[in-house]
Amino acid sequence: MNVTELARQLKVPTKELLEVLPELGFDIGKKAIKVDPAQAEKIKAAWADYQRKLRAQEHLREREEALAKKEQVIQEAGEIIIPPQITVRELSGKMGMPVTELIKILMKNGILASQNERIDLETASIVAEDLGFRVRSEEETGGPAEEELDRVKKKIEGEKQLKAVPRPPVIVVMGHVDHGKTKLLDAIRKTHVVEGEAGGITQHIGAYQVEKSGRNLTFVDTPGHEAFTVMRSRGAKVADIAILVVAVDDGVQPQTQEAIDIIQAAKLPMVVALNKIDKPEANVEKTKRDLSDLKLIPEDWGGNTVMQEISAKQNINIDKLLDMVLLVADMEKDRITANPDGLAIGTVIESHVDKGEGPVATVLVQNGTLNVGDILGMRGENYGKVRALKDWRGEDVKQAGPGTPVKILGFKYAPAVGDILEVPEDPKSLKPVKVRAERKAMEEMVSQRAAAEGETQAQFNYVLRADVLGSMEAILNTLEKVDVPGLVVSPVAKGLGNITESDILAAEATGAVVYGFNVKAPVVVEELARDKGVEIKYYKIIYELFDDIEKRLNEIIKPEVSVETIGWAKVIQIFIKESKYLIVGVAVTEGRIEPRTKINIRRNEELIGEGEVEEVQIGKEKVADVLAGQECGIKLITKVKLEEGDSLEVYKEEVKTKEIRLTVKK
Ligand code: GDP
Repeated sequence: MNVTELARQLKVPTKELLEVLPELGFDIGKKAIKVDPAQAEKIKAAWADYQRKLRAQEHLREREEALAKKEQVIQEAGEIIIPPQITVRELSGKMGMPVTELIKILMKNGILASQNERIDLETASIVAEDLGFRVRSEEETGGPAEEELDRVKKKIEGEKQLKAVPRPPVIVVMGHVDHGKTKLLDAIRKTHVVEGEAGGITQHIGAYQVEKSGRNLTFVDTPGHEAFTVMRSRGAKVADIAILVVAVDDGVQPQTQEAIDIIQAAKLPMVVALNKIDKPEANVEKTKRDLSDLKLIPEDWGGNTVMQEISAKQNINIDKLLDMVLLVADMEKDRITANPDGLAIGTVIESHVDKGEGPVATVLVQNGTLNVGDILGMRGENYGKVRALKDWRGEDVKQAGPGTPVKILGFKYAPAVGDILEVPEDPKSLKPVKVRAERKAMEEMVSQRAAAEGETQAQFNYVLRADVLGSMEAILNTLEKVDVPGLVVSPVAKGLGNITESDILAAEATGAVVYGFNVKAPVVVEELARDKGVEIKYYKIIYELFDDIEKRLNEIIKPEVSVETIGWAKVIQIFIKESKYLIVGVAVTEGRIEPRTKINIRRNEELIGEGEVEEVQIGKEKVADVLAGQECGIKLITKVKLEEGDSLEVYKEEVKTKEIRLTVKK
């Protein structure tokens, strides 16, 4: 056979082939023109091996490079300071990496975010730490590093210099799950909504106002997790006063501790509501002791933490609690002011997309007055125009002043909780929003990726609800570290507090399992889950939760299959040709042939099918293997109608089942 023809069949330049052959142990001169057929076969087999080795080496090199690169990044990476929320673009800037690269990394982590979208501190930290950065939150570093936040704060301060008018204080209610936050907010709402005002139907827009002693108080009543988010958001000063609810039958719990940390980091004055005093198991003294251990010492013990015993359920002492809140507000009255005449600035405390109304958001106005017709400026971009404003009673209003929560209709895009609304002086200064186009492009990318990987990719989606951030982060971190080729583990929803209906819907849409860690699901949510066939699992112990996930992951991962070619043979005679099997005579040209192995069948170099070697015989005797240079009969299971001259690549498949072990990260 001509060397050029052989090279053509092997898809390699002749020169290269001739150069490599001596390395592969063939004694062929660099100027050779012909090789004999037997040698050509051997070369083909050796060449296939050589190619495989090259590919393996390439693979190894890529891995090493990636590792080296990662190490380099770790060495070079310094410390970065991250605010409670950060846009993908800002984060990429801080880490000095292209934004597209970061988007890809986020995607690998199951987070679909375009460059203008905000991700929270947890997510940002996880990603940054993975890339070797030491991450510190703004809170840790003792203050906002972000110029943006500074700018907004300065703007509000500047406005106050022009004119400072008292405004309603804004109050958040925080505390451990089930300690009675919702009940308290309901009790306050019911007792103090101005008579004759309420239309009967209470509107939940994320905040409401009540009147007490002729003064307005604004309460943020976003559900558990969002309250934390609002509190930690850049406008942390959304709230002026915090009510910390502690159930006296349960005492200080992890989320109580966390709430205290957040309240103190935000430097908010606090009133402690000792709730559930009606319960027989109530132990006020013990709860006070718990709190004292955390340096919150009640006034009657000589400390200066304002505490009030209440029962949210029985409506006991709610008035007294509000009096305390007003007292604290009075002490802070110089700070609880704003300029109602300026351009409106506010913080988004609730945001969702309504089927009928489109994107709607509740903004707490912090300065100026928001009017119907105002342009909605968010992050320097035009998010639309105020079409209508509704107050917490669901009534249309024309404007909303400082300290007032207001639901805004007219957003073209849903903003994120914590976003700052700034009505621009000049609407033309705003850029159009690009979010949509980017998101669409990205979704396309993801679906293409999914389609491309569809066959090899296993996916485990989960929803996680936990009682405290600490546990949530520990769980997310551990699952994040699962690194098994072909397996994607993604949280499709997560949050603090009880499992919600939207968790169930997210789980249904993505085939996810819902995990509740130290949290519950209200009956309606459980019913919804049953309806939708969504599985909810509750855990109180972290490694039991991991056990469950581990089991599921190990069930879905595809075993790794490694393939090893053990020999080549050529068909020299067909003895029996049945529809499902064949008995043929072959000459082993390279390596060996064994029973219970697989074969690739090639005709004129072209792969035409595959099969299995069931038995190998020499004469009438079954044998365990036959080596190169020998001839034998084999029984093959294949659908291919073999012909004399076909060549068979004999290989073994080794199935390696990987086992995933999840370890608890402290
Ligand atoms: P949250 O998770 O902090 O919002 O807690 P909830 O307000 O949902 O209350 C949790 C449970 O405690 C509910 O079953 C309430 O009815 C109950 N609860 C709340 N406040 C009181 C109270 O003052 N006394 C009693 N006995 N039960 C209460």
